[in-house]
Amino acid sequence: MAKILVIEDNPANMALATFLLQSVGHAVLSATDAEAGLTLARDQQPDLILMDIQLPGMDGLKATALLKQEDSTRAIPVIALTALAMSGDEERIRAAGCDGYIAKPFAYREFLATIAAQLAREVHAVPNES
Ligand code: MN
Repeated sequence: MAKILVIEDNPANMALATFLLQSVGHAVLSATDAEAGLTLARDQQPDLILMDIQLPGMDGLKATALLKQEDSTRAIPVIALTALAMSGDEERIRAAGCDGYIAKPFAYREFLATIAAQLAREVHAVPNES
């Protein structure tokens, strides 16, 4: 089980993500805007963050960049949630510091597989010697 923070302003997407994560035993923290999400990330230190890119006010790319600039949050992996499927978006998402992305609408099996793979990567991560 992992503690996963979902930052998503669309109620249907939030409900579905929460349902899917809880169905496999994860604990879910939720925020509907970037500012609330940043506060939860700092205070609760989740194992993983699912970050909607299109949020009211500060967008998910800016919020991810801020998380990756802070000592207290930079180690938390961030998976972008994006409806954007144009070429070039993956580069923008990676450039902001996201560790991966999931396209919306969610395909259930792919959604859970992406999260499981990211969490496994963290568990087995070897400290960088350089
Ligand atoms: Mn959104």
